[in-house]
This record gives sequence, C-alpha cells and structure tokens, in this order.
Amino acid sequence: MSNSYDLAILGAGCAGLSLARELIRHGYSKRAVIIEPRDTYSHDRTWCFWANAQHELSDLVSERWSQWQLSTPRRAIRHTGAKLSYQQIRSDDFYHAHLAKIAHRSNIELLTGVTAGPMADHDDRVEIETTAGAISARRVIDTRPRPPQHDQATIWQIFSGAEVETEEACFDPSVAGLMQQMTSDESGLKFTYILPMTAHTALIQTTRFALRKSAPDTLDREFERDLRTAFKTKTKIRRHERGCLPMGQAPQSPHPSARVFRAGQAAGILRASSGYGFLRIQTWAESTAEELASGRRLSEKPFGSPLERKMDAIFLAAMSRSPYAAADWFARIANQLSGDEFGRFMSQSPSLHLWLKVVSALPKAPFVRALLAGMPKIDRADHRVAT
Ligand SMILES: Cc1cc2nc3c(=O)[nH]c(=O)nc-3n(C[C@H](O)[C@H](O)[C@H](O)COP(=O)(O)OP(=O)(O)OC[C@H]3O[C@@H](n4cnc5c(N)ncnc54)[C@H](O)[C@@H]3O)c2cc1C
Repeated sequence: MSNSYDLAILGAGCAGLSLARELIRHGYSKRAVIIEPRDTYSHDRTWCFWANAQHELSDLVSERWSQWQLSTPRRAIRHTGAKLSYQQIRSDDFYHAHLAKIAHRSNIELLTGVTAGPMADHDDRVEIETTAGAISARRVIDTRPRPPQHDQATIWQIFSGAEVETEEACFDPSVAGLMQQMTSDESGLKFTYILPMTAHTALIQTTRFALRKSAPDTLDREFERDLRTAFKTKTKIRRHERGCLPMGQAPQSPHPSARVFRAGQAAGILRASSGYGFLRIQTWAESTAEELASGRRLSEKPFGSPLERKMDAIFLAAMSRSPYAAADWFARIANQLSGDEFGRFMSQSPSLHLWLKVVSALPKAPFVRALLAGMPKIDRADHRVAT
C-alpha cells in the first residue's frame, strides 16, 4: 500500500484517538494514518470531568459521584451536583473502545510500535520520517508531547498515587475527595485526591501545585507516607498513576509548516488554573473532525475564551507570588460556588457571572498586585517562573 495519505495524526493518545473517533462519526472517507510508538496500551491514567448524565461517552463512564468534597485541616466543603456529576473514564476502557472502532475502518490505518520524527514540506505535502520509513500527508495533526525545553508553565501540577485496596472499609463510595487536606506553604499547594470505587478500593494521589517542575516519582515517598498516615490498615497497591501537568503553559511559536497543526496537551489545551483537559479535547476533536470531513480549512484557535485566558493568567500569577495562600483560596472558591458552578468553573470556560462570584470570594490585594506587576515571565533556562 502507498505511504501517502490525506491526513496523518501523530500520537494515538487521548487527542489522537478522540479525533479518529470523531472522523469516523462524521463520515470522513479519505485515507488517514495514525502513528503511535506504543505497541500495547495499559491503564495508565484515569480521566475525570463534570458532565450531565448522558453524553457521547456515557457508555465508557465507570464511576459517577454526585457529591464531592474539598477540605483543609480546619474545614470541609461538600458539594452536591444538581445537573452535573463528577465522572470517571478509565483509560484502558477508552483506548480499547477507540482501537476497536478504528480497526473496523479501512480508510484509517493505525501504525503502533512506530515513532514519528522530523517533518519537512514538499510541494503540497508534508513528509514525515518515522521508524517504519517515510510517509507523506497533505495535512498533519501533531499531538506528540512537547520536548522538555519547550515545555514551560507558570505552575506544575505534580501527582503520584495508586489504586489501592484496603483490608478494612476506609472509603465512602458516594463522595469523591477532590482536594482533601489542602495545605500550602512557600513551595505551593498540597492535597490528596481520593476517588473511591468501593468501601475498600480507591485511586489515591498525593498532589502538589509547585513552582518548579519535577518528576512525579519524586512524590512517591510522600504518597506512601500520606497513605500510611491516613489509613491505618493493611493496604495493597493495584497499580500506580503519576503525572506532571502544566498550568498556564507558555505558548509555542506556530509550526513552520502551514500544513501541520499542533493539538492536545502539547498545544496548550489544558485549563490553565485547574489542569483539566479531557472534555476540552473532546470538543476540539469534534470541531476539527467536522472541518476535515467537510473539506474546510483547518483553523488553529486558542483554547478557552479570552476572559478565561486573562483571568486564569491573573489567578496563576497571584498563586505563584503567594503560593502559601492557595489552600485558603481554593476553599473560599468552593465555599462560594454551588456544586454545578464549581464543576463548570474547574473544567469549562467560566462565564463573567461565575468569575464575578469567584472574585468576590477571594482577597483582592494579591490579585491586584499580580495584575499591576504584570504576568509572570517564563524563565526559559530552568523552566520556572520569574516574578
Ligand atoms: C496520569 C494523568 C491523569 C490525568 N487525569 C486527567 C483527568 O482526570 N481529567 C482531565 O481532564 N485531564 C486529565 N489529564 C490531563 C489530560 O487530559 C491528559 O494528559 C490527556 O491524555 C492528554 O491527551 P493528549 O492526546 O494531548 O496526550 P496523550 O494522551 O499523552 O497522547 C500523546 C500521544 O503521543 C504519543 N507519542 C509520543 N511521542 C511520539 C512520537 N514521536 N510519534 C508519535 N506519537 C508519539 C504518545 O505515545 C501518546 O500516545 C491527566 C493526565 C495524566 C498524565
């Protein structure tokens, strides 16, 4: 078969597979290829988001919580969703459902165990070097992670944890512990994320919002200590889950080729002030598939509304200047908003009304100071924020 395609998607993770699913749904009939270095997929992450009961991916939802909680050592704030619930999709369920859909399409080819390398424009096509030889495509969607030297952010959300099984009943499966035992000091915010599946099983993560990027396994010891302190019972680890997500990712210069479009986390799709991105990737996949299937020009737009981008930048700048205040700020926000408002605030583009409610709950001085001082500059040398 020829190695020339209409579309090449680099990376078959969340964004690449979501786009493939949406291309199928929109009846895309040209030849497409997806390049993915993995040979096999494992349950490497758990995606959570707030949504109504029914949506396109409802069948893949493994858990739903209509209640969630944030707490500091002094108080707990519990939300109940009216329309929204906090929902979980296991990545292995997501991967397998999407791979099965792609396997049934003759015009969409998935090349696993293949890594994409450099690209170059040739006339009206892009040539891509891969470990399985060169391929060419008229358009390229690149979801590959950014190289570390181009991955800079105001704050890093770093977490290490595991799906655990406890001998004694330790969890209340009706309440998701979003940000439990929040504390903050000059190095940033710390909290525990607890997603209970049953009274004996939960995904638990020690999470830090930090000014400096570090490998998530540097939190392993802290997670083990937190686990021992919180649950005084025999605990079995089923699998680990770790990550380091950019919050307020520095923009990248546009790709030199007008035929290459960056996408997914690497393109800055995560919500800057919360790190949530799964739903935004789904929205992007749907609109991009629509453009591709109808033969329209692809448009690379910034993610989120201008209001969201501006307010998030101020919020993160204030947090990077006053890291010790973050636990109090999140508790105030949670206290001020209803369950549905909090869900919308964390994972969608909040309306002006919602922002005004949030701003009214927060102390004004740190935000005015952050605004007057200008947005933090990203120090490219050591990937941290210079204030
Ligand atoms: C552990 C974890 C938990 C998360 N939980 C949530 C959550 O609960 N809610 C939420 O909203 N967001 C969450 N996120 C954030 C975000 O939704 C995910 O990171 C999401 O997977 C991003 O999708 P992506 O396609 O951009 O990146 P990925 O899913 O990482 O996909 C990138 C793909 O590119 C491939 N690739 C790498 N190099 C090459 C190459 N050279 N050539 C070709 N392909 C390549 C990779 O193998 C991978 O398949 C989480 C992130 C992590 C890491």
